[in-house]
Amino acid sequence: MQAELHEPIVVGECEHDACEKPLEVGQVVWKKGHDLYCSLRCMINDMRSPKGKGGEAFGSTGPFDKSAR
Ligand SMILES: [Zn+2]
Repeated sequence: MQAELHEPIVVGECEHDACEKPLEVGQVVWKKGHDLYCSLRCMINDMRSPKGKGGEAFGSTGPFDKSAR
């Protein structure tokens, strides 16, 4: 007897704009509010790049201080 293969049931896709992987039933996903992410990394990356602001996320103070004179 051959087991029938069927397409995985997709429940959604990763909310991270740079990822957008399909999320399947049974897959481990990360939830933040109503948003689903395929991995913790995606969730963190998405939080670090806020949507709709269109500017620098952390202003002028950051880890990459160029020490402008
Ligand atoms: Zn993802």
